[in-house]
Formats: sequence, structure tokens, C-alpha cells
Amino acid sequence: MRKIDISRDPLSLIQDEFQGLYSGDLGLSSIRGGQSAADEALAQLDIRGYAKDRSEVYPESRRGASKLSPYIRHNLLTLRQVHDVVAKAPGPDRVKFRDELYWQEYARHLYARVGARLFRNLRYEATWDAPGYGWDREMACLETVLGELERDGWLVNQTRMWLASHWSVRNGVGWLHGQEQMHRQLLDGSRAANLLGWQWTVGAGTGKPYGFARWQVEKRAPGICGACSLKGDCPIQEFPESESPLQLERDPLLDRDPDPQATGGPAAVDTSREPKQVLLTIDSLGDADPAMSANPELPVVFVFNVLALAKLQLSARRLGFYVETLADLATRRDLTVLMGDPYEYASQNDVSVTYAPVPSFAKYSNLAETHPYQWLRRPHDGSVRSFSSWRAALEKSVNKQHK
Ligand SMILES: Cc1cc2nc3c(=O)[nH]c(=O)nc-3n(C[C@H](O)[C@H](O)[C@H](O)COP(=O)(O)OP(=O)(O)OC[C@H]3O[C@@H](n4cnc5c(N)ncnc54)[C@H](O)[C@@H]3O)c2cc1C
Repeated sequence: MRKIDISRDPLSLIQDEFQGLYSGDLGLSSIRGGQSAADEALAQLDIRGYAKDRSEVYPESRRGASKLSPYIRHNLLTLRQVHDVVAKAPGPDRVKFRDELYWQEYARHLYARVGARLFRNLRYEATWDAPGYGWDREMACLETVLGELERDGWLVNQTRMWLASHWSVRNGVGWLHGQEQMHRQLLDGSRAANLLGWQWTVGAGTGKPYGFARWQVEKRAPGICGACSLKGDCPIQEFPESESPLQLERDPLLDRDPDPQATGGPAAVDTSREPKQVLLTIDSLGDADPAMSANPELPVVFVFNVLALAKLQLSARRLGFYVETLADLATRRDLTVLMGDPYEYASQNDVSVTYAPVPSFAKYSNLAETHPYQWLRRPHDGSVRSFSSWRAALEKSVNKQHK
């Protein structure tokens, strides 16, 4: 285990300490990491017009999207907090925005229940593992979008769908590889939401692949086609042809969870001995992290998982977001940042940790204390087959509790 000085300039820190552990060029996103930046973004949140404008792409001034996702992804802002803060927003905008927050919660519930199964086609046949590279950078629309992804590590939902659709639905490259490319670069990259987004766009989740054509570019990003060298011979003039995909054999785990308690993690603090430190995970980096706020006097530790980083090859922008987040935290807490193996560290020290609803959490052992995850709503045992069936079961489970 090697200690790193998180107060250093992020770029030189990444260059020196993360050699071989990131992909792409060295640079930082314009979206800053950290609780302070998250709080500022939340204070400036204004969702008036969201319902109408959330899918607008360019010029950026037309966009209605909140850009909060990197903070929500790492629980610098919890879904509950963001949900409650828009209570006074106009009806249709509030309803649509909260619906999207529930999509995030749905992704987390689904991944918590099915785990690595989400890496494979869920309900319908779709091009899954076919090799290749599915983005034509000669097209001005894709080049602009990919440039934004590379520069800032962030995209609106609409252009994520363009990229996923073009990669797989039109070009027939396996979505498994496309999602990996995006996961490396998105500051909000999570297996839960990214896998869900790809499964749903390519039709593996719904049976209805989303088609991307010039029509969306002209509607959502007027002006781009005029500057494209392919404007007279547009490769996406027409919608891609797609046949109704074959339905896969029904997976009973999508209908019912035999163990919703295990899926949701501990509902109350689980203590086996007195903790001496708090260990943070990538899934909960906010000041309100339950383990950290329950132990305000304890030192805090974060361990960059070297083996995982070597495999994932995240972008320097993503690493920069983490470095900025930890540097910001270090101004308020006694924080040590290490390079090594977080599971080994946890098993050899008396740590308090917040549960994370991801398969890799099972690698932690011998924890002194485990705190519940900050769910918007705890997972139920009903259907997760579709967003609407999941949501209906969620309402039912609330009604049951209130009876
Ligand atoms: C192919 C593809 C890949 C995606 N990968 C990710 C990912 O890795 N991480 C991620 O957080 N989201 C992902 N999404 C979902 C969505 O695109 C982003 O959450 C959203 O664009 C973030 O921008 P925002 O914060 O401005 O969202 P807003 O529109 O302002 O919505 C507010 C919040 O609601 C949640 N949200 C909005 N739309 C969705 C959605 N469709 N699914 C799940 N949550 C949603 C996010 O937490 C978001 O921050 C993906 C979507 C697609 C189609």
C-alpha cells in the first residue's frame, strides 16, 4: 500500500501516481469534483422548462438537463436530497425530473438484484459481443458528441442514445464493448445506469431498438449538419432497419427477488466491534456518507483499487474528478489516500463502511461496522422487468407498509 499526497496538483498527481492506470490524454473536465462543487451545483439548480428541454443537445444554451449526474453517481448528492429540493418547481417539470431520478434508482435496484447478469442481454436478443468500433468520426454529429465526451466526460441523455444506437443498432458492433468505451469516460459512469442505458437503447431490455437518424440531429442540434462534410451523402439520412428482436427465455429473477434483504443490504447499522477508521468507497463519497457522519471524530481512508484501475482504464478526467473530490474532503476531515487493495485494507483494519449495492461489495470481509446504503426507496421483491412494472411494485410496497 502506497500513500499519495492528495493536495498536489491533480494533473501532475495523475501523471506520476497513476501511470498505466488510465486511458486517453491527460486533462480535467470542466465539471469539478467534490462536495463543495456538488453543493454549488445543487444551489443553482433550476428545473423550469426541464420537461420540454431535457432532450435538447446544441447549442448548449438550449439544454434543460441538470448536469448533476456525476455528483448523484457518487452520492455527493443523494437521490433523496435532489428529489426533495425540487418540491416547489412547476408541476410538469417536477414530475418529469423526479421520474428521471427514479430511473436512476431503478438502475441501482436492477443491478443490485441481478448483478453481473446485467452485462448480458436481459430480455431480448441484441448484438452483444461482436467486435469492432462503431462510431464514424467523419460525421460531424458524432465527432462533436465524442469530442464533448472526451473533453468533459459528460453527455446529455439524448446523445448517449445516439452513440449507443449508432454503435450497435446501425453498425452491428456488440453493445458490451460500446458500453465499456463510454464507462471509461463518463464522470457519472456506473455499471448500473450505463448497462441499463445500453440495454434499453439497443432493445435488449425492451424489444424495441432505438433508431438514430439525421432527423434527431436536425431537431435536437440544429446547425450541425450544415457544417458536415457528409451533408450531401449523409450515412444516417434514413432510420436504420431493425427487425423485431427475438425474446429470450423468461428469467424468474426479473419477476421476483427471493431475498430482497440481501439485495438492499443492511437496513440498520451492523456493528461487530468498535471501528477505528472510516473507509470510503467510490459509491459514497459525500460528506453525508452514513459511516463518515456517524463517526465524525474518526480518521477517514480511501484506497484507490490498483488492480481494478489497471483493468478498467478509466479516463484521466474520471480520475481527476476523484482526486478533486478527495482533496476537497481533506479540507474538512483527517483523510489518508492510498494506492492498493481496499478489500485487503478493510480486512486488516477496524473500518466502518457504507454498504454499496454492487456485486464487488461482497469482497469486503471482517468489517467492524456496516452502514445502510442511502436508497431513495429500499428495493422490493416484485418485478424489475421494466421501469413501469418496477415502479408499480414500488407503489404497492409503500401501500402495504402504510396499511
Ligand atoms: C447509453 C446510455 C448510457 C448511460 N450511462 C449512464 C451512466 O453511466 N451513469 C448515469 O448516471 N446515467 C447514465 N445514463 C442515463 C442518463 O443519460 C444520465 O443520467 C443523464 O444524461 C445525466 O445527465 P443529467 O444529470 O443532466 O440528467 P437530468 O436529465 O438532469 O436528470 C437528473 C438525474 O436523473 C438521473 N437520470 C436521468 N436520466 C436517467 C436515465 N435515463 N437513466 C438513469 N438515470 C437517469 C440521473 O441521476 C440524473 O443526474 C445513460 C443513458 C444512456 C442512454
